[in-house]
Amino acid sequence: MEPVGAVTRGKPQDSGTLSRHDFDGGPVSIDEVETGLFLGNVAAATHMETLRSFKITHILTLDSVPLPQHIVESSLLTTKYVQIADMPREDILQHLESCVEFITKALEEQSNVLVHCYFGVSRSSSAVIAYLMKRHGLDYQPAYELVLAKRRFVQPNAGFVSQLKLFRRMGYKIDPNYQRYKMHRLRLAGEQVRKAKILPQSFHGVVRPDPDITRENPEPIVFRCRRCRRVLASKSHVLEHRPRNMPHLQRVEHRQLASAPTTSGSEPRLLDQLAERIRKASLGSNSQEHPGPVASSSNYCRSLLFVEPIAWMHRVMLNTQGRLYCPRCEQKIGNFSWVNACQCPCGETMTPAFYLIPSKVELSKAVQNVQTTV
Ligand SMILES: [Zn+2]
Ligand SMILES: [Zn+2]
Repeated sequence: MEPVGAVTRGKPQDSGTLSRHDFDGGPVSIDEVETGLFLGNVAAATHMETLRSFKITHILTLDSVPLPQHIVESSLLTTKYVQIADMPREDILQHLESCVEFITKALEEQSNVLVHCYFGVSRSSSAVIAYLMKRHGLDYQPAYELVLAKRRFVQPNAGFVSQLKLFRRMGYKIDPNYQRYKMHRLRLAGEQVRKAKILPQSFHGVVRPDPDITRENPEPIVFRCRRCRRVLASKSHVLEHRPRNMPHLQRVEHRQLASAPTTSGSEPRLLDQLAERIRKASLGSNSQEHPGPVASSSNYCRSLLFVEPIAWMHRVMLNTQGRLYCPRCEQKIGNFSWVNACQCPCGETMTPAFYLIPSKVELSKAVQNVQTTV
């Protein structure tokens, strides 16, 4: 005769196939954050009695597995499933707009909506916070506190917090041209390259079209190979950074003072020049209209020219790191790494990094056909 434990452990008997919910439903946990908007755990979402008593008609699931069939297929319920793990490096940002839309639509219909994940702590609270941020035009922190006031154990993981803040900065939507968003996507792609050793198909979108190939509206400002003048990057491909640990005004001063002659007679003129440069640099730092490389008063670092991966960089599709060569004259013009941080001489690091060496490229305004150096 077998011990009872041995029988029950290996054989799911009369109940048919055991699902995850048979093991870890746990106690039902559900809180109303705003009228009609509920936040809870998986037990709440799978407990018909709970759904009935709170008059839940819409369920938004953010979990690694979907809800059981009988919930998803219930004619009384409208459901949406987002497959996501509770890991800081998971891309919750790409789902926030559709989650907010699902919640908004449900509430507009005067329906009650339950947003849940496994514990109702991180993933689902992130979706609810995103909704509250957009609904009330809030920053992350006040929206988080609104949720916390109704459910005392909510805490989006650190990666989700920074993605929610990015969502806020982009105006509660995805702005594909926003530099921090580009870096977010590149970091996710870098994670994939680290594992797969090549760039997976699903991330080919991070590689920008080749600006040398004529398009409808080519950008007027481009970087060319200094030797063969092949167009290598457009201004919009540049990932700007400011010199690290060195405010730009200080930097101007240091440079100026270092080159100052020792004769006292030239001092007044030097001081004038210095004042003028500081003034220009200050204007540059306040001006949002001319933040790019053409602005002579730009205070962005130009020690290395970090750019997005571009289609002519064939090697970035198949390697984790390496050199970049001009596709026409084949001279070495830069480096890239999906996996290791690249440090600019100013101290700033980028990961992943794709950079052109400024002495190998020149800035070109295609419209006026005027060449200037970086
Ligand atoms: Zn070249
Ligand atoms: Zn730098």
